[in-house]
Amino acid sequence: MQLFADWHVHTSYSDGRATLEEMVAAAASCGLDEVAVTDHGPRAMFIGVREAGVYQELKEQAARLAEHYPVRVLVGAEANVISLSGEIDLPASIIKELDILAAGLHPQVWCLPWWQTVTWILPNRLGKAVGSIREKMREANTLALVAAVRQNPLTFISHPGLGMAVDLDEVARACAVTGCAMEINTGHHYVRDKVVLSALREGARLVVNSDAHVPGTVGKLDIGIKLLDKYRVPPEQVLNARPAPQKVESRLPVFTAIAGRMVSPPS
Ligand SMILES: [Zn+2]
Ligand SMILES: [Zn+2]
Repeated sequence: MQLFADWHVHTSYSDGRATLEEMVAAAASCGLDEVAVTDHGPRAMFIGVREAGVYQELKEQAARLAEHYPVRVLVGAEANVISLSGEIDLPASIIKELDILAAGLHPQVWCLPWWQTVTWILPNRLGKAVGSIREKMREANTLALVAAVRQNPLTFISHPGLGMAVDLDEVARACAVTGCAMEINTGHHYVRDKVVLSALREGARLVVNSDAHVPGTVGKLDIGIKLLDKYRVPPEQVLNARPAPQKVESRLPVFTAIAGRMVSPPS
């Protein structure tokens, strides 16, 4: 499987360490056709963009950079799911200007209403150490993520299963209905096999991204490619896969030797 794009990288507008130009230059130098910058939505604690208008600034920069680098530059966002009812932290007026919309569960987010930060996000943080809390929160997290998939025009959900536990089969069923892809994120250490298996079981699409925060990891997608190959995921099911090469039909007539004569096969 070959991939043509990395649709999840961050810049210093959120918690990335480099400028958009440095990330785009890295994407071009590793041979990608396309890169999407997806800085964190504004309600990520301490690491989100300062305000949603930043995406417009990024779009202007991206348009300029596209003239100088041999790579298409898309501007998207990694929004945060900020309530149990699936709201995300970007308004429709910004969403409609984006090329890519990702959303994910993050255990460092200011919820709306604020008290869900205490009743939902905080137990997820504590639950890392206490298995019984973690299991209780799985149900709430799944509810929130499924609702986010159903009510927002998401291109993909970022790193499902990382940090905040979810029922991946249930999430995959929702994704299969809307066309939202489930991400195989190569930038974090977690068990990715279950994401692939759930997507295959339920017919959801996948996408492989680096979640790069520095230029050196842009386009580092090998772990994901290995997984796709391991489970024989067809390229049509992967948003950023190059199509499988078609079998080239010979244009020459096929002749078969029969009894010493060359005859054309029946058409
Ligand atoms: Zn994330
Ligand atoms: Zn990210």
